[in-house]
Amino acid sequence: RIVYVNGNWVPEEEAVVSVFDRGFLMADGVYEVTSVLGGKLLDYPGHAARLERSLGELGMGMPMDADDLLEVHRALVEKNDLVDGMIYLQITRGNPGDRDFAFPPAETPQTVVLFTQSKPGLADAPKAKTGMKIITIDDIRWGRRDIKTVQLLYPSMGKMMAKKAGVDDAWMVEDGFVTEGTSNNAYIVAGGKIITRNLGTDILHGITRAAVLRFAREAQMEVEERPFTVAEAKAADEAFITSASSFVMPVVEIDGAAVGTGAPGSVATRLREIYLEESLKQAI
Ligand code: PLP
Repeated sequence: RIVYVNGNWVPEEEAVVSVFDRGFLMADGVYEVTSVLGGKLLDYPGHAARLERSLGELGMGMPMDADDLLEVHRALVEKNDLVDGMIYLQITRGNPGDRDFAFPPAETPQTVVLFTQSKPGLADAPKAKTGMKIITIDDIRWGRRDIKTVQLLYPSMGKMMAKKAGVDDAWMVEDGFVTEGTSNNAYIVAGGKIITRNLGTDILHGITRAAVLRFAREAQMEVEERPFTVAEAKAADEAFITSASSFVMPVVEIDGAAVGTGAPGSVATRLREIYLEESLKQAI
C-alpha cells in the first residue's frame, strides 16, 4: 500500500511517526473512516464536516483546506487502485518532542495519516442476508462520545467480549438504555417506527445514521429519536445497526434471544437497499 504521512506518499513499510506523537502517548487525536465503492467516496461531505467538528471540540483546526483533503482521498484511491474498501484518516496533535500532559504550542504541526483498506465486495457482505448476533455490555466510556477520538480501547474490549461470546458485536448500555454499538449506531423497529437514540454527547453522530434517517423519512417511514431499553430491543420486531463500513446491517439476536422472527427484517433490508442506491448516486 501507498500511504499518506504528513504530506508524503510512501510505501507502508516506510511510513513512520514519532514515539512522542500525542496520538501514541495520549490518544490525542481524531479519525474518520470513509467507505469507497466502485472507486468512489461515500458520504464524503459528512465525514469531512464531522472531522472538522471533532478537531474543533479538541481545540484543533483542519490541517489543510477542504479541496486539498478531498484530493488526498482521491489520490489514495488512485495510487492504490482501490475499488471497494475504506479510507482511514487520523489527525493527532502532533509531536511535541517529549511527553507532557499539557498541549504543545498551537503551531506544533499536526500528524496527518491516511491509508486504504481494500474490502472487495464490501456491499455484498454475507451478514446482510443472515443478520448479526450481539450481546449487551456496560458502557463505561468517557462522556464525549460525540468526538471521534482514537481512544478505542473499550470498544476493542467490547469486540473481544463479543468474540468470546461467539457473536458479532456488542451494544453498550448506560442506565438501562442502549447507547450504541462498539463501532456503529443502534436501532430497533417497534410499533411501526424506527427508533434510535437521539444525538447528544453520549453517542457518535453517525454519518450513515444521518443519511439513513433522511432516506427513511423521505420514504414516509416513521422515525423516533429517543433512547430505548435492552428489554424494548429484545421485544422489538426488528433491530439493526448503521456505520460507514457496514452500511445497514440487521441484528437478529440480542443476548441469545431472537429479535422478531430471528431473520433480517424488512425495514432493515429495505433501508440497506435504499442507502446503498442513494449514497452511490451521490458518491464522488
Ligand atoms: N458509533 C461509534 C461508536 C462508531 O465508532 C461509529 C463508526 O465508527 C459509528 C457509531 C457509526 O458512524 P458512521 O456512520 O459515521 O461510520
